[in-house]
Amino acid sequence: MSEFDLIGRYFAALGPERPDVALGVGDDCALLEIPAGQALAVSIDTLSAGVHFFPDCDPEHIGHKSLAVGLSDLAAMGAEPVWATLALTLPAADEDWIRAFATGFERLASAHGMRLVGGDTTRGPLSVAVQVHGLVPTGAAIRRSGARPGDAVFVSGTLGDAGLALRRMLAGESVAPELRRRLECPEPRVELGQRLRGVASAMIDLSDGLAGDLGHILRASAVGAVLELDRLPLAHQVADVVAATDDWSLPLASGDDYELCFCVPPAHIPNVERLAEALGLPLTRVGWIRASAGLDLRRPDGGRLTQPARGYDHFPVADDRAD
Ligand code: ADP
Ligand code: MG
Repeated sequence: MSEFDLIGRYFAALGPERPDVALGVGDDCALLEIPAGQALAVSIDTLSAGVHFFPDCDPEHIGHKSLAVGLSDLAAMGAEPVWATLALTLPAADEDWIRAFATGFERLASAHGMRLVGGDTTRGPLSVAVQVHGLVPTGAAIRRSGARPGDAVFVSGTLGDAGLALRRMLAGESVAPELRRRLECPEPRVELGQRLRGVASAMIDLSDGLAGDLGHILRASAVGAVLELDRLPLAHQVADVVAATDDWSLPLASGDDYELCFCVPPAHIPNVERLAEALGLPLTRVGWIRASAGLDLRRPDGGRLTQPARGYDHFPVADDRAD
């Protein structure tokens, strides 16, 4: 199968048709129409075999996750997903692999009304880069820089599930299917993100662990925070590990949660409680923002936890305390 057959068969009509796509796959560029009064939110992520997924991972899950990580970024800005582009580097034109990949990508794209409008296909070591495009009313995007002292800190879902799945897979142990799904098929919190416009003062998606990712909000907002460890929402498998080892690195410093962490001024807290009910998604208050810098991790007994090792860094340096 030639490169063009492959694109035509699997990627030319992926996701729903949209009236704002004047021209999609097939020309030198896509032509896209941004409605008046909306800003375009753009983010790109690369998943590389052996770094971000096991080379023998189900290609349907790779298709899903390669889009999910971008959708999580759009969610974290409060943006509505609209278009995607896909740069696919493949060692060979294995049609079964490509069909399964496209199926996983398509299912998630369609669930969020997103159209694939272009891309690039090349031969080389397996790697997938997806750029996502979202719309957000001008001025309504939720940045990292808006947290203020007194705001409550919330997280969605549960923390550390994907980290536990990865840890067990690396150790060659069996992994419960629901944990494995959290690693390989994360559900980006797209609707929650949009419904937090006008409610949250700052937001980030959790891809490198709560402690490090909340740290980005704290630096961008020039504030500090207290986290109460006994409030962290944990699945029972993760809670068991923490109870047995007193090691908090799963919920605080492991990657791939793809939950949202957001700050909420006190007056808006009832809105968050209503939202949790409406979405059927736990939204848990885990701490608060304070004026003095730093992240204070409080144990149930009142003691303090030293911050566990930071989330995954692709280019670690010997001494990076300055950043
Ligand atoms: P060019 O050489 O002009 O860059 P390409 O031959 O790379 O064009 O691609 C032809 C068309 O197919 C373009 O519209 C491009 O956006 C699209 N395309 C290529 N690869 C993909 C892909 N993996 N997914 C979606 N569209 C793709
Ligand atoms: Mg090209």
